[in-house]
Amino acid sequence: MELLKERILQEGQALSETILKVDSFLNHQVDAKLMFEMGTCFKKYFENHGVTKIFTIESSGIAPTVMTAMQMDLPMVTLKKQSSKILKGEVYQTTVHSFTKGLDYELTLSKKYINENDTILIIDDFLANGEAALGAIRLVEEAGAKVAGIGIVIEKSFQPGRAMLDEKGYDVYSLARVKKLGKGLIEFIEE
Ligand code: 5GP
Repeated sequence: MELLKERILQEGQALSETILKVDSFLNHQVDAKLMFEMGTCFKKYFENHGVTKIFTIESSGIAPTVMTAMQMDLPMVTLKKQSSKILKGEVYQTTVHSFTKGLDYELTLSKKYINENDTILIIDDFLANGEAALGAIRLVEEAGAKVAGIGIVIEKSFQPGRAMLDEKGYDVYSLARVKKLGKGLIEFIEE
């Protein structure tokens, strides 16, 4: 998505060789029109995948996902990050290690919002090691539902997540694929 790549180049800050800060349009302040364009791109790619619901992970995945859900006319579910396990049987939970915070959390989904006939599109803001995406996949598959694919706003292709998801056979579609990060340097994979 050219518009996204331009914004990343204009406003993104590479905090290190692995962390990209995009607080001015995605992770803190949110550019709603840009989110709408993201929704258009995700719809175009995933519209013939039989998707019944779109899942995201709180909180930065919500804005692009709500725009996608609106354009695809589908329900959206936000997977919650809980600090501890819920012991009653009303939820699916799985432990995920946070790339940016270095902590574990319990990714949580109410059993009310999924069933075995669902085909789920998972959308998130970043893909690094793939822990968050894999956690969401585990919840979907534990419920007996199918994963239609994974939509990512910014993929850091030099980290292991993309290759790992490809190897497992998931359909990953990223709006921007970052090849390299460094002080004052952001390079994309050209497609
Ligand atoms: P993963 O689980 O793939 O290792 O990391 C993905 C999650 O970590 C995303 O949901 C995102 O919140 C966060 N994340 C990973 N890398 C970055 C980054 O470079 N910048 C920001 N802002 N968040 C990131």
